[in-house]
This record gives sequence, structure tokens and C-alpha cells, in this order.
Amino acid sequence: MSSNTQPDYDVIGIGAGFAGLALIHYAREAGLSVHVFDKADDIGGTWTWNRYPGAASDSECYYYCLTFSKELLQEWRWSVRYPSWDENLSYMHFVADRCDMWPHITLNTEISRADYDETAGLWRITTAAGETCTCRYFVSAMGMISEPVIPNFKGMDRFKGPCFHSSRWPREGLDYAGKRVGIIGSGATTVQMLPVMAETAGHVTVFQRTANFVMPAVQKPMTPEWEADIKAHYDEIIAKCRNHVFGMAFDSPVGRTIAETPPEEVQRIFEEHWPRGSFRFVFETFDDLLSNPESNRIAGEFVIRKMLEGVKDPVLRDKLTPKGYPFFAKRPPLDHGFFAAFNRDNVSLVDIGNEEPLVEFTETGVRTTKGDYDFDIIVLATGFQAYTGAQEALPIRGRGGLLLRDKWEDVSSSIMGVFVAEFPNLFLVTGPQAPFANLPTSIEQNVIYIIDCIRKMRDEGYAVCNPRADAEAAWVAHTADIHAQTLMAQGDKVHSWMMGANLEARKPRVLIYFGGANVYYDKLRESADAGFPEVAFERQAG
Ligand code: NAP
Repeated sequence: MSSNTQPDYDVIGIGAGFAGLALIHYAREAGLSVHVFDKADDIGGTWTWNRYPGAASDSECYYYCLTFSKELLQEWRWSVRYPSWDENLSYMHFVADRCDMWPHITLNTEISRADYDETAGLWRITTAAGETCTCRYFVSAMGMISEPVIPNFKGMDRFKGPCFHSSRWPREGLDYAGKRVGIIGSGATTVQMLPVMAETAGHVTVFQRTANFVMPAVQKPMTPEWEADIKAHYDEIIAKCRNHVFGMAFDSPVGRTIAETPPEEVQRIFEEHWPRGSFRFVFETFDDLLSNPESNRIAGEFVIRKMLEGVKDPVLRDKLTPKGYPFFAKRPPLDHGFFAAFNRDNVSLVDIGNEEPLVEFTETGVRTTKGDYDFDIIVLATGFQAYTGAQEALPIRGRGGLLLRDKWEDVSSSIMGVFVAEFPNLFLVTGPQAPFANLPTSIEQNVIYIIDCIRKMRDEGYAVCNPRADAEAAWVAHTADIHAQTLMAQGDKVHSWMMGANLEARKPRVLIYFGGANVYYDKLRESADAGFPEVAFERQAG
């Protein structure tokens, strides 16, 4: 590694998950030199960190993948509808192996700072070991939901047993058979983890602050017929994702609304779709679930009734009932046996939101206002600082040494989640104010856009791209305007990470572009076709 004005690489990316792999592919295809660093000891991003029992994708396998190679899409074989973390990891190894990506990846290397050198027009990347490395274009591929949130409970360091965040599951595995396990949090992670842990743990206690709307996953094996059908229609599947409001291969919009459908017919359609599982229930039933408050209420009531059908104890059913916020103001998890697990004798729920707030950790467990709970293991399934966490954890300094973390103190501003004013030649993959959608779809659209911009700079002799402050202000205003019209804007009432409302030290904010992933992808394309009017290109640095 060196630090002269001729950069070590054209492109450096941090993060070797889907975004890092896509970056290597598209950068190499454009003839750019590219290198990706990751602090983990493996590629995989989310799937290398989240190894908790039951961890699996909530997108269906056949569109939860990279699409740049038709051969790879035909060759890879999924075993189930929602692949487990290790199957996802195997898939990513398959991509890295088959595309000979390993020479472009350095693992076990934490980047401790990234600084823009205005005179040279380069980014200087420094590792935790103190080595530096330079690039013309710096890409954050660190993941949208990767920086854990560890709540600041009193006495947390007192607990004598293992206590860790769900995304930092011990690499050597954890023997929880017969043990007493406490899980703090009841979001998507816990919904996946509980049923698996309950099978062998001595007792599992879930500490729930807010009950969730949960939809059925309906896991199923990949059959030869289904696989053949998928593989015969990949072009259509890719086009569906590209043109869908959430980047998923769903058949929507469906052209009907709850508001204009007779109530009995609404219930019939809901009943018909419920057993199909996945987020399809939201998108393939009616088009107004997420926009019309009354339609949302009707859908929410149906979801609550169906999801709790199997919970026998009425008191427990009431505790598990989401109240006081619209369906989808928090991202709904998918159920692989979460509610059924509560019928077991070795599973219990503690309502720390309404009945007995958590007071402190003790040497042997957790104390609430009503008593002590003893555990051998405590899992903090307490979520993530979404969209901005990873970029803020790493000191990234732009013009005049401005820290990205400071710039985002009140407003997490960007241009389409990719560019940030005052941070020349920095590109974010799925940064703040990008949509929330099927991640591989968004990642690929972002990386294609980023590489198109870099290609233009190289081909036309530009050294620097300066994101324009007025374009950033316009995107921030546009995103806020759309956000204010959605039911998701009520997420600040219930600690929704979709608004950063899960962070104790930060004000809730607009983090997501809710104008539709498809609309957003169109905007990226229009921008690239128009020569990237959101940025000012300069021929000379300095
Ligand atoms: P989450 O949905 O944010 O849930 C965190 C849980 O911890 C919530 O129940 C929250 O309570 C609780 N919590 C946080 N701080 C707390 C505090 N100080 N006191 C008490 N309770 C506290 O996090 P997650 O389950 O890790 O999921 C985050 C996102 O990651 C998901 O929405 C999803 O997008 C992604 N994810 C995806 C998958 C998948 O696709 N397969 C799986 C897991 C996660 P409140 O609800 O009251 O805030």
C-alpha cells in the first residue's frame, strides 16, 4: 500500500457482501481496478455476521441474488424458498469463486478512517493496523442494516454469562441446549430465532417492548418443477423486480383497492392469499394497504386475527397484539413458527413495554419492575442503526475534513442515497434516502449507476465529481414530502428503525425514499442518461 498521487486502485469498496461482489463485477467489466476490504473473516456481509439460529432471508431465493450472469443464475441451485444464512453464504462463495473475485478482496481488515485529499483528488483509506491505500473513487458497500444497536441498560456488564448482539453470534457456535436463554427484543431477528432455539433450549424468555404485525413465511422446498419454471423465466423475473415498487418479483399492482371492494370480497381475497406467505400478502391483495389509512386498518385487523389464531392463551394473545400504530409502520417480520413457539412450556414472554419495564441487568440475568429473571445466556436482538450506521461508525471525512457523521447529525441527507454533497468521489450503495426494497435488486441498480458515473469521468477526463448542494436539498425535500404522505411516517411512535426512531441519542428522521423502488430505479437511469446533472464534474482536483 502507498499514498502518492497515482492511486493504488481506481475503486476501493468497503464491505464484501452483495454490494462488494456487485461492485467487483461491474467495476471490472468497465476496466477499472477495484479492491474490496472487509473486517469480517469471510465474504457475505449480512450472512457472515447474522449466524443466529433460524437466520434466513425474507425475500424468496430466486430473486434474492445477483443477476449479472445468466449462466450463474442457471447453474446455482437453491434448496428452499427462504435460504438459511449458510445457504446464502454458500451462494456468495459460489459467485466469488466462479467469477474469480478473490484476488480483489482482502478480509480480516478493518478500515479505521477514510479521508478525502482535496489537493490530489484521492481518497486515502487507513486500516486499523495503520496501513494506507488510495483510490480515485471510494464506495461504501457496508450494508444498509449492519451496525448493531446495543441499548444502554444499567449494569449490562454485570451479567456473568455470554451476552452478545444477535448479529455477533459466536463464530464457534453456542451450545444453548438445556440452558435458560433471555432474548431482549421481538423484531424480525427474534421472530426467526425463537422457534429454532426453543426446540432445544431449557427455557427461552422473550422481552418484548412493542408487539409486531407478523405475516406467514410459508417455507417450502425447491422442487425440480418449480426450479425449471424459475430458470425458464429469469428475464421476466429480473424485469419484474426492476419494475416493482419493492424490487420484488411480485405480480403487482393488482388493480383493485380495499376501498372499492365489497367487505366480504376483501376478506375472501385476504383468506385466499394468506396461506401463500411472504410479503406478497401486502402487494398482491390490494393496492391501497399502505396508502389508505382505513384500508390499512382493515388489513391490519385481518393480519392480527390470522397471525394469533394458534395462540391458545388469551392473555398472551393480547400481549402479542400490535396496538397504536399502522400495519407496516414497523417492518413486519415473517413467521416461521414464532407464535406457535409460545404454546410451548419452555417459552415465555415478558412485556417490558406496558407491564414491567426492564430496570437493569444483574449478575445472573435481568431485573424488571416486577422481579428477577435468571439466565445462562442473554441475546440482544435489539436491531441496527439502519442506512447510516456503518458509514457513521467509520470516520469518513470529505471536503475541509467534514465528518459524514457530523453532517448527518440532524438530517441524513443524500442525493438518491448515492451521493453526498461535500464528499467528492464518494459513492454510497443503498445509503440514506434510497428506497427500502429487495436488497440485491437495489444494490445492483445502485452499482450500475455508480459505475456509469465513474466510466463517464474516466472517458471524458474528469478528476472530481462534486455532488451539488442544490440537488441534495431537492432530494431531501422530495423524499421528506413523500414520506410525510405515507403511513410509515407514524413509525416515530414505535421506535421504527425505518425512521431511525430506534436510536436513543438521535432524533427520528426521514431515512427512506418511499416513492417506489421502481420509480427510484427510473430516476437513476434518467440521471445517468442525462449525464448526472446532480453532480458538478471538474477536470482538476484542488
Ligand atoms: P428490530 O426489528 O429493530 O427489533 C429490535 C427489537 O429490540 C425490537 O423488539 C425493539 O423493541 C427491541 N429493543 C431495541 N432497543 C430496546 C430497548 N432499549 N429496550 C427494549 N427493547 C428494545 O431488529 P431486528 O429484529 O434485528 O431486525 C431489524 C431488521 O433487520 C428487520 O426489520 C429486517 O429488515 C432485517 N432483518 C431481516 C431478516 C431477514 O430478512 N431474514 C432477519 C432479521 C432482520 P421496539 O420494537 O419497542 O423498538
